[in-house]
Amino acid sequence: MKKEELEKLRKKLIKKRDKIKKFLERAERGAREWGESGERIFHHHISDTATDEELKELAFMSATRLREELAMIEEAISRIKDGTYGICLKCSKKIPLERLRAIPYARYCIKCQREIEERI
Ligand SMILES: [Zn+2]
Repeated sequence: MKKEELEKLRKKLIKKRDKIKKFLERAERGAREWGESGERIFHHHISDTATDEELKELAFMSATRLREELAMIEEAISRIKDGTYGICLKCSKKIPLERLRAIPYARYCIKCQREIEERI
């Protein structure tokens, strides 16, 4: 993969990571302020008050799902650092660039991803 491509994907990952972090922090702060524990409720508050479209989008996801996504993003960023980014964790083949552009934290190539999903 070209350096510029990798850098673009890295920036995308970092941007998304910061956004999710910001969202989760806000959600946690909101839960304290409002004294509510149900995640649905603070998501609701955020979707009402957020001016940022992307933050609004995140408000539709569950905190659990967001934490999972955050973990995958962090993993992808560290794989960029050690040079193993873009390689399928199952078959060790390169993940096509189009796939990485769509899902920058993809761990598997499409073929392996399908096999994994079928097993579930
Ligand atoms: Zn594969």
